Amino acid sequence: QRVGYALVGLGHLTLEELLPAFGECKKSRPVALVSGSPEKLKKVAQQYGIKPESCYSYEEYDKLKDNPEVEVIYIVLPNSMHAEYTIRGAQAGKHILCEKPMANSAAECEAMIAACKKANRKLMIAYRIQYEPYNRLVRDMVRENKWGKTKYIQAQNSQSSANPDHWRHKKALAGGGALPDIGLYCLNTSRFLLGTEPTEVFAYSYSTPGNPLFKEVEEAMSWQMRFPGGILVDCITHYNTHDSRFYRVNSERGWMHLNNAYAYTGQQLQTSHAEGPAKMQNHITISPKNQFAAEMDHFSTCVLEDKQPHTPGEEGLQDQRIMEAIYQSAREGRPVKLPPVSGTDVFR
Ligand code: NAD
Repeated sequence: QRVGYALVGLGHLTLEELLPAFGECKKSRPVALVSGSPEKLKKVAQQYGIKPESCYSYEEYDKLKDNPEVEVIYIVLPNSMHAEYTIRGAQAGKHILCEKPMANSAAECEAMIAACKKANRKLMIAYRIQYEPYNRLVRDMVRENKWGKTKYIQAQNSQSSANPDHWRHKKALAGGGALPDIGLYCLNTSRFLLGTEPTEVFAYSYSTPGNPLFKEVEEAMSWQMRFPGGILVDCITHYNTHDSRFYRVNSERGWMHLNNAYAYTGQQLQTSHAEGPAKMQNHITISPKNQFAAEMDHFSTCVLEDKQPHTPGEEGLQDQRIMEAIYQSAREGRPVKLPPVSGTDVFR
């Protein structure tokens, strides 16, 4: 039994990653498409065997309500549109899988959670890293204190961008620059690895004056987070460097370094640890798995078995709250304390 998905937005992620990933899914299938381009709808529907009557324009979005094949709506639109399309999708009686970042403000995230609760529909945020095998292995090693207690994590997610007219460079559409788009991976993955919540952040941001790419959104954000037990997490994200996506977890007697940690494929795990007087270095290889397929099948299982998703709306809300504190810290040039989060383990 496969759960039927409607994909909303036929941009890069949908066309290049999500639709092909359904081929590796066991519990999920694409059954409907929503796009502003009739030509794209026709071409993509033919390619993936989707019925012409299951192709909708944005104006027809609410008609998904009457399509019984659609159980889940997967929202793959610019960030500023996530809240509206999630709320309307839940009101249409569908479960929602929403791309990261969840929205552009904590208030929007709260409204999305409330709308899905009211409609008694599930809401999951597409944090694919939490379904990727290498990241899950490191999480297990961290949680079992394999080489002693974790002391600090260094995390970096950087890439370059070239088109100032793209929605990612418009504050109203993107919500921010490098931080909510790619820095979010450093933030969310650190929380995932440690299983606890930061208590304080201190941040510094930069945008090259006169560069049209960074007129509205930040080019770079560097920030530190304090976690319980004195664990420090040091993150940097940049929109104007060659691709670099890694983290290193430093614990008392060893470290784990995951290269390409946030990439779609190509994770490389290197470790070092003390064994008596010797220092051991290893490359650990496990079988890779399509993260997008794993993520969609997880949500389908939750729908089929009526379970709470591993990365529900509350997970996106918590990241949004932390990002708001990071921006505040960068603006005010001082550390910002975060309120304690109740019920963290509910969504771990
Ligand atoms: P994209 O620009 O390639 O596609 C966006 C789609 O939205 C396009 O088809 C565009 O036509 C449509 N759209 C509808 N209304 C629009 C408007 N007002 N302005 C601009 N576009 C509009 O973007 P993308 O890279 O596919 O990103 C879409 C979402 O997916 C974003 O939220 C992004 O953060 C997220 N994303 C996640 C990952 C991941 O690895 N999980 C990777 C890339 C993108």
